[in-house]
Amino acid sequence: MTALPAPFTFSQSSLQNYFDCPRRFELRYIEKLNWPAVEAEPVAENERRMADGNFFHRLVQQYLLGLPADKLSRLASAPEASPDLLRWWDNFQQNFRSLTDFGSLHPEAVLSAPIGNHRLLAKFDLIAVRDGRATIYDWKTYHKRPKDEWMAVRMQTKVYRHLLAKAGSHLNGGKPFAPEAIQMTYWYADYPSEPAAFRYDAAQFKRDESALETLIAEIESSTSFPLTGDEGKCRYCAYRSYCKRGARAGDWHDAEAEAEAHETFDINFEQIAEIAF
Ligand code: SF4
Repeated sequence: MTALPAPFTFSQSSLQNYFDCPRRFELRYIEKLNWPAVEAEPVAENERRMADGNFFHRLVQQYLLGLPADKLSRLASAPEASPDLLRWWDNFQQNFRSLTDFGSLHPEAVLSAPIGNHRLLAKFDLIAVRDGRATIYDWKTYHKRPKDEWMAVRMQTKVYRHLLAKAGSHLNGGKPFAPEAIQMTYWYADYPSEPAAFRYDAAQFKRDESALETLIAEIESSTSFPLTGDEGKCRYCAYRSYCKRGARAGDWHDAEAEAEAHETFDINFEQIAEIAF
């Protein structure tokens, strides 16, 4: 049997990591191995881009929590801020002119639900509710806009919509959202007029539930976690040298979204709105 702790808190990141490479899941979440390889080159540019992305998320969060836009604009246009940050912030402001565009706002919402012997948890950039319908917004600062087909099958798309249907009733006056009332929108800060929107329905909810339960049962019962057969995944993986899958990282321009699956999951567990375990 695996040494997977029970209950284990699964997230879209850990499931995506397992999906991309079982060995990466084992190293990261079971062995908890910190391996200091860089995930993308050039290092400085990659780190700057990630820092800008985090800063952008914080600006938007503060805005949604009610801080004045002009104060946040001054931060985005400070001399030390990067042109990327200012461009993303300007794009955001132009596309979401007023908080009332969103309906009732739940920025940085955290939802969790039991799944098998474990639990599934997600932290959302924003859940906006209007007239019994919910839109999940996720801000992406990718340099290249991914294809919709690629985003549609990401674990994030499955997990977020599923969790909102399953554990989001407190955002809807105590009534669960019907899957048909849920939409997930990825808004790309560099492609502000080309968001990707994914609707949901009861049939997809059932398929996702079954797929997630099967995947988690598979992880729970795994006794070996093989290295991925797709060595392209190794180019952006911190364990590359540990696995002897090449010394040099891939270029971040080619795979920001791949690298994003490694994001650390910063959760304050006291914030978790959890249904009975
Ligand atoms: S380097 Fe490749 S095989 Fe090793 S954990 Fe990373 S993705 Fe998996």
